[in-house]
Amino acid sequence: MSHKHALILLAFIILGAVGGVAFGWYFSSQAQSIAWLGTLFLNALKMTIIPLVIASIISGVGSLGDIRHLGRIGGFTVLYYTITTAIAVFIGLLVVNWIQPGKGIDLGDPSVSEHILAKQDTGITDILLSMISPNLVASANQMQLLPLIVFAIIFAMALTTLGKKSEPVFALFDGINEAMMKLVIWIMHLAPIGIFALIAARLGNAGGGEQFMAEIKAVGMHVVTVLTGLAIHFTVLLLILILVAKRGIDYLVGMARALVTAFGTASSSATLPLTMECARENNVDPKAVKFVLPLGATINMDGTALYEAAAVLFIAQAYGIDLSMGQQAIVFITATLAAIGAAGIPEAGLVTMVIVLTAVGLPLEGIGLLLAVDWFLDRFRTTVNVWGDSVGAAVINRLI
Ligand code: ASP
Repeated sequence: MSHKHALILLAFIILGAVGGVAFGWYFSSQAQSIAWLGTLFLNALKMTIIPLVIASIISGVGSLGDIRHLGRIGGFTVLYYTITTAIAVFIGLLVVNWIQPGKGIDLGDPSVSEHILAKQDTGITDILLSMISPNLVASANQMQLLPLIVFAIIFAMALTTLGKKSEPVFALFDGINEAMMKLVIWIMHLAPIGIFALIAARLGNAGGGEQFMAEIKAVGMHVVTVLTGLAIHFTVLLLILILVAKRGIDYLVGMARALVTAFGTASSSATLPLTMECARENNVDPKAVKFVLPLGATINMDGTALYEAAAVLFIAQAYGIDLSMGQQAIVFITATLAAIGAAGIPEAGLVTMVIVLTAVGLPLEGIGLLLAVDWFLDRFRTTVNVWGDSVGAAVINRLI
């Protein structure tokens, strides 16, 4: 897509997002009748994810040539993701200790929703177990990307040992990858309408502008804390982009279509196809695009990590429980792991937060405090998640 074309599309996408807020705000009941347009866009994106991820990883590993290259890129990628996630959690802890949003909160009658109760036994070993799937078709069916990525990497590594025999197989996946990217460009043109409908319908579902404001007010300082933390981390990533990846603001503008889509869909997995296409257009080496971004959409969630740490400390404050430095260190580690374990789907972070709460012995009912505004904060943290992946691709691009 040409630069001018991309900018025009971006303008329409932003218009769609702003229009969606306005429509959902004032016409909450009518907004429901256009929800299907958002679903259509979301489904079109999701349709591409499984073939795109598998084809891009296999062709990406194939293009690395030497297998030691994979180790190098893989090592850098995991290191970068771990460092930035840790920075995010640290910022989350910092802002919540500074603003103290939970002090003086009226606990009311928080209750735990069914789907969170069902996840009570999610632990750290479950995250490790989720990396290898006994049934790839079932994983694809449930959109579990991590085991598919692990399989695609191992499969491609096996292929590289086959010499000439592997060539047609790599060429096939290369072709599939190219075709999928074409499809993504076509689907991208649905984004303005899709994002308009997704945002309008979600805000409408929350009862429109007035009710939404009332809910925000109830836990206002929590919202302010999380948004402040996310803004700081976004800026830190921007600095990493400029200082380490040696890229400018134009990279941010180039990635903006993916970022607004992340805001609209609240899903980094659904946004992944657009993230990849935008990075490609921004001259990120295909090796980095094909390998770093799918992995990032699955395990690198800076916004989610920051949110989990901030939300858990908020709950502790609301219950009047003071967490010691040692306990905050446990929050630090478990929030990082919980973010890795969270799927790139809406409100997944709320579910894996159970791991963090359990680790420091806080009541799970505390999650009830966050439910009303989680969908709203989810959009911001997903945007930061995708921004973290995008900066990661630019950094790895520079390092390889
Ligand atoms: N919705 C987020 C994502 O897809 C995950 C979360 O924090 O709930 O990236």
